[in-house]
Amino acid sequence: MIEAKGLGVVFPNGTEALQDINVTIDDGEFVAVIGLSGAGKSTFLRTLNGLVRPTSGSVRVGGVEVGNLSGRSLSRFRRTVGFIFQQFNLVTRLTALENVLHGRLGYLPTWRGLLGLYGEGDYELAAGYLREVGLSGKENVRVDNLSGGQQQRVAIARAMAQQPQLVLADEPMASLDPRLSDVILGLLKSYNEARGVTVLVNIHVLELARRYARRVLAFNQGRLVFDGPAESLTDELAERIYAGSLEAL
Ligand code: ADP
Repeated sequence: MIEAKGLGVVFPNGTEALQDINVTIDDGEFVAVIGLSGAGKSTFLRTLNGLVRPTSGSVRVGGVEVGNLSGRSLSRFRRTVGFIFQQFNLVTRLTALENVLHGRLGYLPTWRGLLGLYGEGDYELAAGYLREVGLSGKENVRVDNLSGGQQQRVAIARAMAQQPQLVLADEPMASLDPRLSDVILGLLKSYNEARGVTVLVNIHVLELARRYARRVLAFNQGRLVFDGPAESLTDELAERIYAGSLEAL
């Protein structure tokens, strides 16, 4: 379960990126996070895996107070949270399989990770996840020889290889041809349904959020202004969300 209480983030330059966010997300939910660019979506996701620390309030994931973690406890926590970035964040000179194996690093003693000494089971898992995202046969291809859509699928397989409790995807289609949005969101949705893993996706295309998510969170200027089922997000409400004329929840 994810629980944010009075969560606020003020960056050192004074930008108030999140203000008094109160939200609970149950295990196994698929949630779309929407809002204009700069609304705080990415900051919200980043507080959930400890990439950004709350400056007020708290955020708990699976019972763990994320803002209090550091060092080894933060690394241990992070291995349970898969993060999918806009720009894929793969090691481009490595193969698809090697990138997916990186998802297993958190499970190896550091020295074995440094030497790339994965276990037999890790290879099988990684190949299985590549199959799950439709990339069988590409295991040994360097990722800089794959298309953008294929690279993002490798990144999804890497997140799956972490066997996470939570997957966070920060506008995973933003740098891809819009026609690929359905492939990426479809994979995340099937994974959520098949494995029961909680998925939060930042999506700036409203229509996609409506199509894939049962629940939508909308941010405006750092405030949570809508939290409800996708079907109650009418065009009129959406307009107000984007115009910034809704009161914070
Ligand atoms: P979104 O994901 O909705 O586009 P962000 O969470 O990235 O929004 O940004 C929210 C606000 O915080 C914006 O005003 C952005 O410029 C600011 N911001 C984001 N990251 C930083 C940072 N590291 N330092 C200062 N300001 C930041």
